[in-house]
This record gives sequence, C-alpha cells and structure tokens, in this order.
Amino acid sequence: MTALDLTLAMPRARPAPTAPVNLMGLTRKGLAEALAAGGAVPADKAKMRASQAWRWMHQAGVTDFEQMTNISKETRQAMAERFSLARPEIVERQVSKDGTRKWLIRTAPGIEIETVYIPDVGRSGALCVSSQVGCTLNCTFCHTGTQPLVRNLTAAEIVAQVQIAKDDLEEWPSDKADRALSNIVFMGMGEPLYNLDAVSDAIDIISDNEGIGISRRRITVSTSGVVPELIPLGDKTQAMLAISLHATNDELRDVLVPLNKKYPLQELIAGIRAYPGLSNARRVTFEYVMLKGVNDSPAEARALIALLKGIPAKINLIPFNPWPGSPYECSDWGTIERFAAIINRAGYASPIRTPRGRDILAACGQLKSESEKVRASVRRKLEATAEDVGA
Ligand code: SAH
Ligand code: SF4
Repeated sequence: MTALDLTLAMPRARPAPTAPVNLMGLTRKGLAEALAAGGAVPADKAKMRASQAWRWMHQAGVTDFEQMTNISKETRQAMAERFSLARPEIVERQVSKDGTRKWLIRTAPGIEIETVYIPDVGRSGALCVSSQVGCTLNCTFCHTGTQPLVRNLTAAEIVAQVQIAKDDLEEWPSDKADRALSNIVFMGMGEPLYNLDAVSDAIDIISDNEGIGISRRRITVSTSGVVPELIPLGDKTQAMLAISLHATNDELRDVLVPLNKKYPLQELIAGIRAYPGLSNARRVTFEYVMLKGVNDSPAEARALIALLKGIPAKINLIPFNPWPGSPYECSDWGTIERFAAIINRAGYASPIRTPRGRDILAACGQLKSESEKVRASVRRKLEATAEDVGA
C-alpha cells in the first residue's frame, strides 16, 4: 500500500470547529458585508451598524459588544454570537532602558509575533509591526531571516499589534490629543510585499479617520525589493516606501539580500522611480545596514550617492544589530561617521539611525519568535559561518 492509498483509506478527520471571525481585521466594507451575511443585522441597516461598530472598535477601543451602547441589546447579542472582538494573548512584555517597548504576541497556537514601540521617532513615536511569522528571504545579516516562514499574518493580526500597543500606551480614544503613537513602520518580522493583501487591508483600517486615524503618510512599508509589487503597493496603500538596499553592486547585494538575484539593482531602481506618488515631499527611504569591512568604505558611500541620483530619497544608515550567532560585526563608529559625512555632503540630512532597545533584542533585525528547537539547526549553521568569516 502506498502512502497515498493509506491516506485515502484513513477515515476523514472531522474539520476543526472554526473560530468566530474577528471583526477587527475587516475593512469598513468588509465589516458591513460580514454583519449582513452573518444575519446579525438586516441588510438595509448593515452600513449604519457597521459605522457604529467601527467607531466603538477603532476609535473607542472596546473589545466587548456589550459596550456598544448605541446598538440595541438584541443586535449586540446577535453580533456576539457570531463574531469576536478579542485581542490576542500577550505572552511577554519588555521595556528597554531607553523606553522602547516590545511585546511577544500569540495570535494562535504556534503563531507568535514581535512588535516594538520606539518613542521619539517620527512625530512622537513609531510602532514597528510584523507582517509574517518568519521570512522566506534569508538576508544574511537578519535574525528573522534565520526563522523559516511559518505563515503570513492576517489583517486582524496586523491590526491587533497596533491595538495592543494602544492599550499599553493608553491611547484610546484614538482622537485624544498628544498621542505617543504617531507612525507605523512595517519593519518587523517578514516581507510585507509577500503579504500585500493583508498589509493593504490593515493599512485601510489603521489609517481610517473615524478610527485609529494614523495618516497614510505616516505609515512606511519596508521591502527588501520585491519589484513587481511596488506599484501595487503604492496604488493600494499610498504608504511611504522604504527599501532595504545595503549594497551598491549586485555582487555584494546578491550575498546580503539574496532576493537581489531575482530582482537585480537596475530593475529595483527602475521600479522605485515608478513608485506612485514619489516626490520631494514623499521621498523613498533607503536603509543601509553598516557591516564592518563588508559595505562600509568611503568608495561605497560615493557609489550609494551615484546610485540614488535623481531619486527623491532619504538615507538611513543602520548600525548593524548583532544577534546570537550573527556572521557580521557592526562597523566602527568612526567608519559610520565618515560614511555619513560623505552622504551629508551630498545633501542628505542626519542619516544615522540610533539603535534602540538593543538590551531587549528589539532593534532592527533582531526580532524573531518561535521555539528554540526549530532554530537549533539554523543556529549551528550560522555559528559555523561566523567562525569561517572570523566574526
Ligand atoms: N522584510 C522587510 C522589512 C523587515 S526588515 C525588509 O527587509 O525591508 C526591517 C529592516 O531591518 C530592514 O531594512 C532590514 O534590512 C533591517 N535589518 C535586518 N537585520 C538587521 C540587523 N541585524 N541590524 C540592523 N538592521 C537590520
Ligand atoms: Fe526577511 Fe527583511 Fe529580514 Fe530580509 S531583512 S530576511 S526580507 S525580514
């Protein structure tokens, strides 16, 4: 009997009972449709009820249908029977010496995500959200890249990261003055352009004026360079674009960001130039991680300027954040300053990004979840590589 026969001969497993749909991940339109389709409200009232529920969920921050006091008791009950508003579980919360906060969030069994709040970034503070658990792309300097992709996050799971941060920062109602959370960056775990539909729905929800209300111009999506998805990203989200560049020639970028073999620099630069809405007021951010002896020479600083010529750009030099077993070292501070000075002279302002939350492994590229067991083999491989390069 072959394995296939065996599978066919086995009694069919009963499908697991499905969890109620969490309304937090639905766009306005999706919410009205779900309320009507689930029979919780009559079709002709769906839009109005959705609008009421929306304000409770995203402006007031409620997680209980009972609190939606302008909706009748029967309707609230009907909604509660069919849907959920629950937040996922917070497994761990850490606060760094510098005020950075990191949450480890479990949204489902085996699905753990890290989210980081960084004060004094952007207008008042930025939240770094994850779009996938793990990543398929294996950039050699990135901790997340050593964790195999588990799955894409849903829009609800992306929105939940913002909501949990707002709960913790006491940012409800959403229109309160002096908000500590002003910006969102998709720079956590995963490649957002490999999960564009959920990312785009989440951005619709987060940016809605009658809800969380973070403007699209304060939402930045960072990509390692998935060229065919750049125009769809701009069209669907009108978000700000950040590109993880890290090298100025294909030979080196092929190693640091292996996706470069598929979409080499020339194609990437052409794709960026075509990004919808690009202008001096809406510049692309180029991220460049400073790796000692790898990409940090003055010649590379000059090559970087030449490569970006004519593109409305900001440059962010990121001191490399080490992680256990990482095969690289951070460039010396003097080297970073010399590199930055060359870039400054070319007219780019204050390009060095101060590492934040390093003590709680919350800095760029240090995020990673999931059990140690899964990682052991990868870690061994990396440790071997680190010895090879003498790191
Ligand atoms: N996958 C997307 C977004 C997540 S990575 C991307 O690659 O753009 C967010 C940023 O952190 C990227 O610029 C990435 O290159 C950078 N990064 C990754 N590992 C890092 C590390 N160890 N030190 C500093 N920055 C790192
Ligand atoms: Fe994935 Fe971005 Fe890390 Fe590369 S840098 S492995 S694309 S998360």
